[in-house]
Amino acid sequence: MPIDATKPYDDENIFAKILRGEIPSTKVYEDDWAYAFEDINPQAEIHTLVIPKGRYVSWDDFSAKASDEEIGGFVRAVGEVARAKGLVEPGYRLLANIGGHGHQEVPHLHVHIFGGHPLGPMLV
Ligand code: C5P
Repeated sequence: MPIDATKPYDDENIFAKILRGEIPSTKVYEDDWAYAFEDINPQAEIHTLVIPKGRYVSWDDFSAKASDEEIGGFVRAVGEVARAKGLVEPGYRLLANIGGHGHQEVPHLHVHIFGGHPLGPMLV
């Protein structure tokens, strides 16, 4: 079920639990600003999720409330993960679902990194 991205942050959401180490995840990368792990239900050969360490429901919440330092650190981390995965050449896709129409299911901002093969045109 898609979430209502206008609701306050829920500390019991599944990615908050992953960040606190209460639920296992396959860690790919971590720094002061971000944590990256493999999606449990991969939609491409490479499907990695990058989440900020701060308590942000969605891209909207993050872009409105996070500090420039948090935003810079998070954006840089997404690039780091893609580079570490060797995706720069041949290329990859970033995706962030936001709220109901965006079909966001987990109420902690996450950027999907897809790659590993030609992805074809975007379908909406
Ligand atoms: O963008 P959206 O919220 O729809 O995506 C949530 C993603 O989180 C899904 O791709 C799902 O497979 C992934 N997920 C995960 N580990 C969990 C729960 C969800 O990787 N424990």
